[in-house]
Amino acid sequence: MYFRFRGMLVDHGWLEPAFVQTDILGKIISTGSTPEPDAAYESIDAWILPGALNAHSHAFQYAMAGKAEIFPAGQPDDFWTWREAMYRCAGSLDPDQLEAVATMVYTEMLRRGFTQVAEFHYVHHDGKGNFYQNIAETGIRMVRAAERAGIRITIIPVLYQQGGFGQPPYDLQRRFICSSTDDFIRLYEATSAYALNQVDVQIGWSAHSLRAVDPTALKNIYPQFSSSVPFHIHAAEQKKEVQDCLAWTQKRPVQWLLEELPSLKNVFIVHATHLDDQEVLQLAGSEATVVLCPGTEGNLGDGFFRMTEFSRSGGNWCIGTDSHISLDPMAEFRMIDYRQRLSTNRRDTFPGDPALYMFREAYLSGKRAMGEHQEGFFKVGTYFDAVAYDAQLPVLQNAGPAYRLAALMYTGAMPMGTLVRGRWVVKNGEHCHQAEIANQYRKAVSKLKW
Ligand SMILES: [Zn+2]
Repeated sequence: MYFRFRGMLVDHGWLEPAFVQTDILGKIISTGSTPEPDAAYESIDAWILPGALNAHSHAFQYAMAGKAEIFPAGQPDDFWTWREAMYRCAGSLDPDQLEAVATMVYTEMLRRGFTQVAEFHYVHHDGKGNFYQNIAETGIRMVRAAERAGIRITIIPVLYQQGGFGQPPYDLQRRFICSSTDDFIRLYEATSAYALNQVDVQIGWSAHSLRAVDPTALKNIYPQFSSSVPFHIHAAEQKKEVQDCLAWTQKRPVQWLLEELPSLKNVFIVHATHLDDQEVLQLAGSEATVVLCPGTEGNLGDGFFRMTEFSRSGGNWCIGTDSHISLDPMAEFRMIDYRQRLSTNRRDTFPGDPALYMFREAYLSGKRAMGEHQEGFFKVGTYFDAVAYDAQLPVLQNAGPAYRLAALMYTGAMPMGTLVRGRWVVKNGEHCHQAEIANQYRKAVSKLKW
């Protein structure tokens, strides 16, 4: 394929115009500002950004997005009550419904500019907590959903053992539980075998959290995985979790991970909301990466991640949309910046160009979260995954190159199209299988008793 765009964001600024040639797999063969002689190309009047990376997803939770937002007087609501509702949602979806919900949410991600997703997957078993005939059934459904929607996926089977520090699992958690680490290894291997047989599906692994996985068991299982496979874990999302971890291990969750894991090279800590001064500095100076999910963290009332100190100490981070109550990468970036501005009464959270800093940091760290490695934007030999913004958007008319990305990010412009592996999966705001996927989704959720 051969494309001409008004311009595209590359490492040194904007390439204008931008010609991109891809091979049959959708990998970039060449980029430049002049075409090959006599070459035929598709010309699009759009500015192109690299596709955004969604490093933390629980696809099934999209089935309840917006349905936990009514608060009857006299019934207190917080993260823990929301979690009960989420468990009921998780318990009510059969594999076909899980696949339909995941296909829908991945389609919506693509429409907003995400081209890759890391699926943190823990709804493993049937409604009674028994293995499906194929132990990896539901993980396979997530991969199929991604393939149908056209988003690139890293599937991350999650080890989930218990209901809290030293507590047996709750009944509502029965679909998540691997009672032995051997069972989890079987599940991981079955998922991995399937994933590696597909075109371009990556694999990671995870422990849900230190409250859901016995810390000693985590230390024992950890060396069984190659350090080249990304390891994801929730930590310090809620104050209660920090207190419980302190009581059980005498360490705060992030402190425990920093001190007890043998290597932090490919470690992705989701949330890391409640950090003390020492944790902020140690985490920023470590090889670990934080995965922030600002829309969900705001929705659940988690707290503020200490981004100003973390980023100025050189910490690495990327973004995810977690529960999918919000699904827009640019909105997640704005929230990261605005929650600092609101708490410091200043505007300069990130000195220089905050839009470029956030976009680039989340992209490069997000690639590692997916199990890939990339040095910069639109490199030859990598998949051409891109998001197109209409060059005629009013907010772009007086935004020169230095302000173009900020104008897109801070005004919440909607993309006009999304390319994955060099092919349009969204064009003029519409996914190529929009009606059919939406129809299947409607049918799947209409049967939900939840
Ligand atoms: Zn999560």
